[in-house]
Amino acid sequence: MPISILGLSRLSDGSQKPQKLDISELDDIELLNPVTFDVMLTKVSHETFDAHVTGDVAILLNCNRCLKRFKTTIGLDFHALYSDDPVDDQWPIDKNDIDIEEAIRQEILFELPVLQICSEKCTGIKSNKL
Ligand SMILES: [Zn+2]
Repeated sequence: MPISILGLSRLSDGSQKPQKLDISELDDIELLNPVTFDVMLTKVSHETFDAHVTGDVAILLNCNRCLKRFKTTIGLDFHALYSDDPVDDQWPIDKNDIDIEEAIRQEILFELPVLQICSEKCTGIKSNKL
C-alpha cells in the first residue's frame, strides 16, 4: 500500500512524520506473520523525501542442506530516498505517493543469507542404509 507524502510536502524542509506500515504479504518472500514497520518520513527538500524503515520480519526459508523449511528473522533498519526526479538508487514519487513496500521487499531479498542453513548442526538429507 503506498504512503502519501501530501501532508508532509507542505511543511518546511527537515519536517518529519512517523508512519506505520502493515505488510501481510510480499512477492517471492514467505512471511511467517504480518509485520508492522515503523517508517519515519523526512522531507529533505521540496522534491526529495527520506523514509527510515525499521522492523523485524520473520520469514520461512528452505534449508540448502536438508531442504526442510525453517524460520529466520531479519531485522530491517534502512533508509530509502524518494524523489520527483530520481537518480542512482533513489525511488520515484508517484504523484504524492511513495511505494515503501517494494523498497522493503528488495531490502529483505538483499539481507537474505547466501547460504540458507536451518541449523549449524544440519547434516543434510539423511540417506537410508540399505
Ligand atoms: Zn537443514
